Amino acid sequence: MKTPAAADVGAHVIAWRREIHQHPELGFEEQRTSALVEAALRAAGIATRRCAGTGVVGLIEGGRPGKTIALRADMDALPLQERSGEPFSSLTPGAMHACGHDAHTAMLLGAAVTLAGERERIVGNVKFIFQPAEEGPGGAKPMIEDGVLDSPSVDAAVMIHVSPLMEAGVIGWRRGPMSASCDDVNIAVLGRGGHAAHPHKGVDTIPIAAEIVTALQRISSREVDPMENVVLSIGVIRGGYRHNIIADRTDLHGTIRCLNESVRAAVPARIQRIVEGICSAHRARGEVVFEMGYPVVVNDPGLTDRVRAIAESADGVVGVTEIKSPTMGAEDFAYFAQRVPGCYVRLGVAPNGVDEPAMTHSPEFRLNEDALASGVALLRALGLRLAQAL
Ligand SMILES: [Zn+2]
Ligand SMILES: [Zn+2]
Repeated sequence: MKTPAAADVGAHVIAWRREIHQHPELGFEEQRTSALVEAALRAAGIATRRCAGTGVVGLIEGGRPGKTIALRADMDALPLQERSGEPFSSLTPGAMHACGHDAHTAMLLGAAVTLAGERERIVGNVKFIFQPAEEGPGGAKPMIEDGVLDSPSVDAAVMIHVSPLMEAGVIGWRRGPMSASCDDVNIAVLGRGGHAAHPHKGVDTIPIAAEIVTALQRISSREVDPMENVVLSIGVIRGGYRHNIIADRTDLHGTIRCLNESVRAAVPARIQRIVEGICSAHRARGEVVFEMGYPVVVNDPGLTDRVRAIAESADGVVGVTEIKSPTMGAEDFAYFAQRVPGCYVRLGVAPNGVDEPAMTHSPEFRLNEDALASGVALLRALGLRLAQAL
């Protein structure tokens, strides 16, 4: 695909999006997607470099010196079999762009290619971050370790994520917490096996595990300020062999979501105490292992105000609205937002005439491509004006 003129960038964005959609790649396997991104950036005269394996960074140095902003898109797909019915559905069995990262990548490419033709108007620098593996294991952190925020050092970072719950083309902004932290917990309840007809001869881990599952819910309802948010979901419970055998071991696997880092920091010790207390009360032993995942995304209030003001006056942005509440979903953009002021905005992609659209991460997820022009318009406006507004 050759470099499009500004006027037909929209058509190219949709073509790129469909091309990426048909060839979804999972985290750190984004070879084809990265190659497409590099080719499009280079065709527009934008210098690129590889970062953290499949990550790509493009840089436009403006006509006048100034601050550096980063615009970030994620590129990876999910391990899902697509059932969207789109004519350009995934050609890769068991992989699907069900979170809209195909659209994120295509929109950022569209903005980059347009901005490349407007270099003289740009004050400062625009860094385009095409990130791998947002859905896991996480590409933001390795990109930071590989210097993505350095030379030139980034002063602010912005990302867009699509939302099927918002009207197509509308930009949603929010100050403060935007998405939750996401940590995993693995609990092993260790008892003693035996015949189920003689439970007193063993230590049955099944009722102990059940007690732990219910007791853990009291962390959010009784131990944490009700104005704070903690979700603790045990998604897996696995134990036992047969109806007449006492289970000597039961494993629980869950996820912990918070919107406040200090609340988050206190949760593991609370879980540990409850597991150990219940296990020791019932002659069992408990082992708890945490896998700490993505932090909370906190939108910098000052940066968010500037992004909002630019969105409200940008040519081609359909509408701008405040998002009332954050999501308990997680985003590894959090690592960028921990290092530099960050802002995560939403782009409505609700399909036309559908009352209950399929959510992201659904095999039926579809997005309204009419919305993409609005996202490109915002990214372009940020590229032209944000660095000066900082
Ligand atoms: Zn996702
Ligand atoms: Zn996503």
